Amino acid sequence: METYDLVIIGAGPGGYVAAVRGARLGARVLLIERDAAAGGVCLHRGCIPTKSMLSAAKVYELCRRGGEFGITAEKISADLARIVARADKSIRLLGGGLDALLKNRKIERLQGTARLAPKRQIIIDQDGDQTTVAARAIILATGSRPAELPGLETDGEQVVNSDQLVRLERQPRRLAIVGGGVTGCEFASLFSMLGSEVSIVEIEDSLLPGFDQDVRPELGRAFKKRKMHLYLGDKVKEHHRSADGVTLLLESGRTVAADLVLVAVGRRPNVEALDLAAAGIETDRRGFIPVDDFARTSAHGIYAIGDINGLWQLAHAASHQGTIAVEHALGHNVSRALERRAVPAAVYCDPEIGTVGLTEAQARESVGRIQKGVFQIRTLGRAHAGGEIEGIYKVLAEADTGQILGVHIVAHGASELVHAATIALSHEATLESVAGTIHGHPTYGEAFKEACELALGRPVHG
Ligand code: FAD
Repeated sequence: METYDLVIIGAGPGGYVAAVRGARLGARVLLIERDAAAGGVCLHRGCIPTKSMLSAAKVYELCRRGGEFGITAEKISADLARIVARADKSIRLLGGGLDALLKNRKIERLQGTARLAPKRQIIIDQDGDQTTVAARAIILATGSRPAELPGLETDGEQVVNSDQLVRLERQPRRLAIVGGGVTGCEFASLFSMLGSEVSIVEIEDSLLPGFDQDVRPELGRAFKKRKMHLYLGDKVKEHHRSADGVTLLLESGRTVAADLVLVAVGRRPNVEALDLAAAGIETDRRGFIPVDDFARTSAHGIYAIGDINGLWQLAHAASHQGTIAVEHALGHNVSRALERRAVPAAVYCDPEIGTVGLTEAQARESVGRIQKGVFQIRTLGRAHAGGEIEGIYKVLAEADTGQILGVHIVAHGASELVHAATIALSHEATLESVAGTIHGHPTYGEAFKEACELALGRPVHG
């Protein structure tokens, strides 16, 4: 039986980054993936296809808004099949780069479905043929899949999940989205920009439950302005499928008629095939694998990173955890723990959202007295020049020390803007230090300085 320093199960952004880090540290690494290609959900069904499609939708929207800028664009149309084909091209290109990276680092690869056996052994099933290997350390990185909503099961035709929606080639005239979280909001923007009539049904009272209290209504207003129909604090009671489409009957008695329904109600960890019990690993009540500050599971030498541990459902968080876990497993940098504070997140809806650190409710609970500044994006010169004036830039800080605890941005380009805030948080910056930093003008980024000035009670423009 072959023995490896590291066996990694799952080649998504958690697993492949872990493999590269392990190989760079001189370990013999085996990377097992059941799909034909590496890259996981992120490359094939998540981050990359959705952002490619959103970019195309934005181009279409800007063409339609051309008149605002003095540009005449006539006879423009969007072709979803070509938009998907463009996304596929990016996936192929990036996938090729990933294969080369793994090959250059001499990472051994096996295609098959892996499960655990006692004594850190792993059994790999390849179309019925079984191979067993052993490992000094195992990294579980098997990710997650869309959760089903009982009673509204997907059929791949009229009721779909996000995996199926990124393969869609015919644009729905009316799209109903069940679930107003990150995935639901991104697809809502995408199809709304392409011209579909979009409805969102969300059980909580606002879109993006769990996000900061000023972000949620800001997004709600922006979506209503785009003529999306929001059914908040409501849920699907019954539905009827017919040749004409699907009708959702909501608990409030309201109905939503659609050609296509997207179910976006969260994700389930891919743990079933792993036979966790064989290695003595338990899951929490939602099925995720609990881990400590080094991504260690309860079983010695076995780590769990990325979507399966339930900490975040973000590609970059999975990659970060992969690095920490591998370094710990190989006895390198053993005291470096998982970053839990400065983890940026973005929602690529229109306008975008970027967020890092504590929400206002969390900040108040954690430190008591806070200072905050909520700066209106429409005050910025760059916003008017660029024709994207919606949104806010919000900064939260501890009142006694001025240390920045959280930043929440709703704005054009917020997914990029959030990085300056992330560095500020990870370096324990204060309102004074950011307010005293020269920011370029005219930019959206100068909203950070302005929000800090506001929080300090000495705004120039706010
Ligand atoms: P995954 O990417 O899920 O990879 C796990 C891999 O393990 C898969 O390839 C799977 O085939 C394999 N596997 C599973 N079980 C086994 C087994 N038993 N044996 C062998 N192989 C196995 N995140 C962001 O940060 N930014 C975004 O913009 C973003 N957009 C998204 C959009 C959508 C529509 C979705 C659905 C997700 C998005 N995400 C985004 C989330 C992101 O894709 C995930 O957080 C990330 O892919 C998780 O990485 P992972 O390595 O944990 O798992």
